[in-house]
Amino acid sequence: LSLIVSPIVSIGRVVTIFQRGMASLGRLYDIMSVQPDVTDSPHALRLRPEGEIELRHLTFYHDGARVPALSDVSLRLSKGRTLGIIGPTGAGKSTLAALLLRLYNTEPGQILLDGRDIGDYSLTYLRESYAFVPQDTFVFASSVKDNIVFFKDTYGDEEVEAASRLSLIADSISRFPDGYDTLLGDRGVNLSGGQKQRMAIARALIRNPAVLILDDALSAVDTVTEGRILESLRRARKGKTNIIISHRISALMEADEIIVLDKGFIRERGTHEKLLKKGGMYYDLYTAQQEDGQPQA
Ligand code: ADP
Repeated sequence: LSLIVSPIVSIGRVVTIFQRGMASLGRLYDIMSVQPDVTDSPHALRLRPEGEIELRHLTFYHDGARVPALSDVSLRLSKGRTLGIIGPTGAGKSTLAALLLRLYNTEPGQILLDGRDIGDYSLTYLRESYAFVPQDTFVFASSVKDNIVFFKDTYGDEEVEAASRLSLIADSISRFPDGYDTLLGDRGVNLSGGQKQRMAIARALIRNPAVLILDDALSAVDTVTEGRILESLRRARKGKTNIIISHRISALMEADEIIVLDKGFIRERGTHEKLLKKGGMYYDLYTAQQEDGQPQA
């Protein structure tokens, strides 16, 4: 692990790791906790949140920013439900994901997990409960299997294969020269963008997290494959909480609730049908994406 960790740590800011999409929360949460201002409270709960999330008037400013990245955001996501988040670049979508992973501190009472403030949980336990899949994931020079289990050697082959089937990467892997033992990276097989994203989803699913956050994590797969992956996620994630951030409406139209973020504010919220009837921002996005034939990335 140290080989991988050292270049990351040398970047310095943990936030950078997150923004560069490095924060697949396998063991990297250990590294994240080097960020000085996000630390365990002396009485940190050694409890894993089970996936009920509430935001109460959440307002958040990045360091030095004059305008908030999120303004008065309130929502409640019960365990087992799926939230969709859509909105233009800069709307605050990734900031919201970062706050849920407690990459930054928030005011007490603004983010509650299972009814308790996010700051009360031990960071290790908190981040073990989440899987975050960024748009640009990383592949390291090791086998396919290592890339999926991500240094956790307790997973058996069957679990690796099941996660790969769910994320629709299993067929590609079976065509690689050595299957799950195939070396990836510069000296091995180079995955396409879509294959990388599917592998990252397998990496997340194998951990069976209480909360799965996909941040534009299906942007490089075609919409038919996207639909099939989402269908298998719905089956595999029954009873678990999911947050799907996407520019493409097709990725989140089945969510129990969708919020439209813009400049840090929730402008609209509801189901796909309700939002279409409203004829506002969501409707305009939908129409534009239909007309393009090619959803906007
Ligand atoms: P989205 O994911 O919807 O594109 P972001 O959450 O990345 O939006 O950004 C929301 C706002 O916060 C933007 O104005 C962006 O410039 C700002 N922002 C994001 N990350 C940082 C940061 N680390 N420091 C300062 N400002 C940031």
